[in-house]
Amino acid sequence: MSDPESAVAATRGGDLGLRPVPGQLTFDAPRRGKPPRHLADLDVAERKSAVESLGHKGFRATQLSTHYFERMTVDPEEMTDLPKAVRGDLVEALLPTLLRPVRTLVADQGATHKTVWRLHDGALVESVLMRYPRRVTICISSQAGCGMNCPFCATGQAGLTRNMSTAEIVEQVVAANRWLRTQSLALPAPDADGDDEAELGDESDIEDGAAAPQSRSTTGSGGPGRVSNVVFMGMGEALANYKAAIGAIRRLTDPAPAGLGMSARGLTMSTVGLVPGIDRLTQEGIPVTLALSLHAPDDTLRDELVPINTRWKVGEALDAAHRYYEATGRRVSIEYALIRDINDQAWRADLLGDLLNARGRGWVHVNPIPLNPTPGSKWTASRRGVEQQFVERLRAHGIPTTVRDTRGSDIDGACGQLAAVSS
Ligand code: SAH
Repeated sequence: MSDPESAVAATRGGDLGLRPVPGQLTFDAPRRGKPPRHLADLDVAERKSAVESLGHKGFRATQLSTHYFERMTVDPEEMTDLPKAVRGDLVEALLPTLLRPVRTLVADQGATHKTVWRLHDGALVESVLMRYPRRVTICISSQAGCGMNCPFCATGQAGLTRNMSTAEIVEQVVAANRWLRTQSLALPAPDADGDDEAELGDESDIEDGAAAPQSRSTTGSGGPGRVSNVVFMGMGEALANYKAAIGAIRRLTDPAPAGLGMSARGLTMSTVGLVPGIDRLTQEGIPVTLALSLHAPDDTLRDELVPINTRWKVGEALDAAHRYYEATGRRVSIEYALIRDINDQAWRADLLGDLLNARGRGWVHVNPIPLNPTPGSKWTASRRGVEQQFVERLRAHGIPTTVRDTRGSDIDGACGQLAAVSS
């Protein structure tokens, strides 16, 4: 799979027959060669035994971890605390290159960067880095493609190529940190409009404004020099790749040098509503923010827009989200792509408000997202006035509601537009 064109075809599904028929759900990822083992796949004890089984002293694992997670380097030349003779060996065995940039697209006056990555087997994924004055959010992928088949989402239309490994997920964040460090310090322009708009990963409307402690640390005038917020809103349904996704959450939150030491409050796990996955996440005791992609308050419409609804209904998904709130104290986000004349009626806003309030007060907020157009889609975003009315209806029910910004839409980098086409 070294030919770039065939890699694109494979990822997009068409040539391999992966493109799903409407409503079809794919849970089992096609089997492909496993990505090489990487330090970030392993917890601290596993790293130590991996290093020892290579014939090196156990403490070398901590040194390697410091290089990767703190210094963000995989260059043997820079690992001067390691004997020259062992550096190459350890790097080759535990820090293989997992992601190769295919290309980067820039939007929003340089504040938004979308990178297309090629994985070891040619599969393509994307991540989107969004710089704001006081935080840096990255939207990462957890699968190459997606098996959930939501008809308004470009990724869903391409089918599932394969699950990503923990280290492949984590490396998207480490690579962003590496790049941010090299950046000269031009601040992105403040949001042009939208005092009503929520930034991705932004919690300021629902919390005390501190999305993550390190988001406050700025480098000169350039905004945060590292990623403060991570949203699992790129390609894939992370809860369908549960083990790798939870491993990534642990690596992101483990204190350095075991991991990146990020605040769980800066992480958002987004799901179509895999109820057993939500319940499992509830048990983990890591207070990430949960986002539920609802998109319709009634089962008839949601069966069509979010096919997983044929397994777990609106009420079951909301109950699981509420259990998550009760266990973690983290306010849940409800994602709602506003699609013109499909799900944007006032009665649906009222029904949504009633369903949320029936489960309690103060446990949830709603993020309407103007639909981002995808190729060939028959749907488009709601009219501005209709969107406004939808928001006001929800607020009238006492539900905090903020319209999501649409960073990156002109580079196909906004929600639902990630299709990993490399040219
Ligand atoms: N599988 C996860 C992450 C997917 S993308 C999930 O479904 O939650 C993150 C969000 O973007 C989801 O809420 C998804 O429904 C939404 N989305 C997908 N396509 C979109 C589009 N064309 N316009 C706006 N939002 C979209």
